Amino acid sequence: MTKRIPLIAGNWKMNLDHLQAIALVQKLSWTLSDAGHEYSSAEVAVFPPFTDLRSVQTLIEAEKFEVVLGAQDLSKHDSGAFTGEISGAFLSKLGCKFVLIGHSERRQYHSETDETVQAKVAAAWKHGLVPIICVGETLEELETQGQAAVPVAQTIAALSGHETLGEFVIAYEPVWAIGTGKVATPLEAESVAKAIRAAITENFGAESGQSRILYGGSVKANNVAGFLASGEVDGVLVGGASLDAEEFAGIARFQ
Ligand code: PGA
Repeated sequence: MTKRIPLIAGNWKMNLDHLQAIALVQKLSWTLSDAGHEYSSAEVAVFPPFTDLRSVQTLIEAEKFEVVLGAQDLSKHDSGAFTGEISGAFLSKLGCKFVLIGHSERRQYHSETDETVQAKVAAAWKHGLVPIICVGETLEELETQGQAAVPVAQTIAALSGHETLGEFVIAYEPVWAIGTGKVATPLEAESVAKAIRAAITENFGAESGQSRILYGGSVKANNVAGFLASGEVDGVLVGGASLDAEEFAGIARFQ
């Protein structure tokens, strides 16, 4: 079994224009390469708004920053008359490795269903992107169905119906913990990650079961280590705290 490399992912959401994006990535990389520190033993990825991607890509390539680029969403279509949508083909061309799919804000404000998520996962693979499939329960679902049922069902739905599975990452984000300052305990995150991994292995085989599973929801530099301690959680998806270079660098150096 190969060891899973931790993934520290920063979802900027609808924050920072392209000039602010350049400043943040520059500061992040400088902070990470400070003398006396290892850059990070993790894969560090940022997810800027679409309009920032080209600027950030140019900067990363020119400066050889060890920061990986991802997008916050993609269209399930390849090209054509879909006003306002962004094709996975364009994201690949821009050097994106990852794409977030099914973030709870997309599910909630853009009515994305498990079917939408499944179709977008297929589109990501078609265009050579690694989907980070976001799953998680609302407070009401937590109270009525417990913690693992909804994220497990969403994971299975996203991965079902494909001829073969490509590389993917699952991000477990309890909806009640996103941007609220309320955080799941490391034990809760560990037990849901375990349940998700068991379901993936059972339904899609042992190799897929070795995929990375992240925790997200109010992660900060001062609580990240707890989530990664068990070995069940392979990284974090960070919202608010990824907008501050020093805080995010602190998360990337979680040890
Ligand atoms: P948060 O957001 O870290 O601000 O809670 C996490 C996310 O939505 O990915």
